[in-house]
Amino acid sequence: MTTPTLAVWKFTSCDGCQLTLLDCEDELLSLAGQVRIAHFLEASAAIEPGPYDISLVEGSITTAEELGRITAIREQSRVVVAIGACATHGGIQALRNLADVDEFAALVYARPEHIATLATSTAISAHVAVDYELRGCPIDRRQLLGLLDALLHGRAPDIPDTSVCTE
Ligand code: SF4
Repeated sequence: MTTPTLAVWKFTSCDGCQLTLLDCEDELLSLAGQVRIAHFLEASAAIEPGPYDISLVEGSITTAEELGRITAIREQSRVVVAIGACATHGGIQALRNLADVDEFAALVYARPEHIATLATSTAISAHVAVDYELRGCPIDRRQLLGLLDALLHGRAPDIPDTSVCTE
């Protein structure tokens, strides 16, 4: 039996949810024996090509580059888990959705024409199918570890109100 692969991805976010995973110290050691971490730039420079068994996705979709990247990640991932309020709801950066982003950019930047951004900042599930969501800012480490343990042992994660299959 091949070792399952885990990938962790960052989009527009503060990295706090990835740090929750890094904070799991002892549990991570145990986890490392059960999965091969194929992509996790916060923790390792190693980058393996897909496919991936589990992708944890932090952050919202804010640029065209991110939109293309999340589409590719979805295509290469058996299970996609959105982790944290940025990924599940757009996060604090979604406040920009209430106004015209071009007006914001003109107010903030001296050369707004160099800012490449989408008009909105949105949740991962607005763009691709998401299998599970972990809510919170940041996420709860016990929920994260419980979800990973369940997925690695073929059980449905027991996380209240988090299953959001969108397609
Ligand atoms: Fe940071 Fe909160 Fe977004 Fe997680 S949900 S990346 S802690 S702002």
